[in-house]
Amino acid sequence: MQAPQAAPEAVAATGEPTLPWRHSLAGLGPAFYTELEPTPLPSPYLVSANRPLARALGLDPQWIASPQGVNAFTGNSRLLGTRPLASVYSGHQFGVWAGQLGDGRAILLGELDSAEGPQELQLKGSGLTPYSRMGDGRAVLRSSIREYLCSEAMHALGIPTTRSLVVTGSDQSVRREEIESAAVVTRVAPSFIRFGHFEHFFAAGRHVELRKLADYVVDRFYPECRGTEPFAGNAYAALLARVGERTAALVAQWQAVGFCHGVMNTDNMSILGLTIDYGPFQFLDGFDPAHICNHSDETGRYAFNRQPNVAFWNLFCLAQALMPLIEDQDLALAALEPYKTIFPRELERRMRDKLGISGIGEGEAPADRELIETILQLMAKERVDYPIFWRRLSRFVAGEPAETVRDLFLERESFDAWLRQYEARLPADRGAAASAMLATNPKYVLRNHLAELAIRQAKLEDFSGVETLLGLVQSPFEEHPAHEDMAGFPPDWAHHIEISCSS
Ligand code: AMP
Ligand code: MG
Repeated sequence: MQAPQAAPEAVAATGEPTLPWRHSLAGLGPAFYTELEPTPLPSPYLVSANRPLARALGLDPQWIASPQGVNAFTGNSRLLGTRPLASVYSGHQFGVWAGQLGDGRAILLGELDSAEGPQELQLKGSGLTPYSRMGDGRAVLRSSIREYLCSEAMHALGIPTTRSLVVTGSDQSVRREEIESAAVVTRVAPSFIRFGHFEHFFAAGRHVELRKLADYVVDRFYPECRGTEPFAGNAYAALLARVGERTAALVAQWQAVGFCHGVMNTDNMSILGLTIDYGPFQFLDGFDPAHICNHSDETGRYAFNRQPNVAFWNLFCLAQALMPLIEDQDLALAALEPYKTIFPRELERRMRDKLGISGIGEGEAPADRELIETILQLMAKERVDYPIFWRRLSRFVAGEPAETVRDLFLERESFDAWLRQYEARLPADRGAAASAMLATNPKYVLRNHLAELAIRQAKLEDFSGVETLLGLVQSPFEEHPAHEDMAGFPPDWAHHIEISCSS
């Protein structure tokens, strides 16, 4: 690892805290990145700062919100001890090899310690890099707010994700489908390494770098892969299996909560099994298994119910990229196997949790599976609102009348038949089941229209809507009586919101 270097042009901003920045990724060497400076934005302003996360990183939230902090997290002044760089990766986009991509608008500052281990801080939208291709290196306010809110929502739901520390904005205009304004979101994660980083060095035939990258990831994040079993001491096969396990567990959580990622390209797949690259994502409103949240996804490759298969397809690409290291095809195929058993097992576990029937005898599994299947089919048929169904069901188990759930269905008889089976299946201690369900089925979900309303306000430089929504999605299982309206059905106009890849 190389020592942190302060570039000659780095100047300590007034009141700037001295932070113990480290630069593990930079230690890999220049084949993996380009060192460069962010491009400043005019007159930056604070949109929102994530105070709890700031404190967890040893940063003073008040300093982040100060003009110096805003400048630093817009990329307008260099924080002492940081070593900005953009990393190179490649990937498959929409099932097609896309060649070199890379951090086209993201710049890594370095890493800071937290109670959960070292965390990298990355500015997204901070200007051109050698990997920008046709892009402008910028991110717009709209998509930066969506990423900021959603990563915090996912975290509060217990779903592995990159986090967001702060969003700053500027009046500089950025051309997308229409003219929008620029923003920078500071993302936080133990690592932003993607499947695509491995594909990059594999495709270039650079096996020395490929091994260096794999060793870095294993040593830092998967030290258990150096053990001998079950892959005959092949650490790279073990790595593939562990990434498969984490990805399976992640996608099971997405499916259970009703989260549609929208752009599951291999360059948007985290090697740590984190949700990464929030673009046209959506939490389902009405339950439609074939829902396509990305307006640019014409074939529905990334439809909600295709996510589990796409994740496996992506793991296959990773396996291919790791082949020069694994060397043995049978071992690589064996390492892909765990995904196939872990995904359904994890999904079933999550769905049982949602129903409040977790931890009951395994012998009941087939009946439980039918219970889950039947209600999902009924919901799909009538496009029943997904979050509201689960929340109302939880309240029914807590003692409220069945009508509130029943009213969600037109086919009352089918629903009643299901409910009878379900009640027979509930544990004797319904109170405990209800408490568990209310802590599993969120009341507040970052629906598209809620984000949209906060964004419209933010475009008028009123960030109170972002703050309110942040507070709600950070405690999604709690009651917030003043914001009951934000737990309700989406308005009609919500169905017409079109979110594309353009961000
Ligand atoms: P995404 O679809 O957002 O995952 O991005 C795919 C690739 O395009 C990545 O290499 C991004 O860094 C790059 N990219 C996306 N938007 C921009 C932009 N506005 N400027 C430069 N690069 C971009
Ligand atoms: Mg991406």
